[in-house]
Amino acid sequence: MNYLRDRVYMGFKAKARKHRSDNGEDEKNTKTSSKTEGELPCGIRDCEKFADKSMGGRSLSIENAIDGWGSSGYEARKGRVRVCKSCYRKWKKENKTEDMY
Ligand SMILES: [Zn+2]
Repeated sequence: MNYLRDRVYMGFKAKARKHRSDNGEDEKNTKTSSKTEGELPCGIRDCEKFADKSMGGRSLSIENAIDGWGSSGYEARKGRVRVCKSCYRKWKKENKTEDMY
């Protein structure tokens, strides 16, 4: 049952990201505002930000994503993991020491 539950959870989260109108963060109905909105959700599961290039998002390899968030902390697309600006910075920071070897 765990497998099924996880699938349902993932689907729920994907929807929740797009329709976040419950808590006043309505993303679709605020077209009059100048707030920049992304289209690519960040691939990190705990993150609700956007990974659009125009918003500073980056694309990491699977290996890099595992280094930063573990083997289940991200969602990959076509072999890459899209991350938002802040996730990328977090990853970069955490992996800095490894680059210095
Ligand atoms: Zn993120």
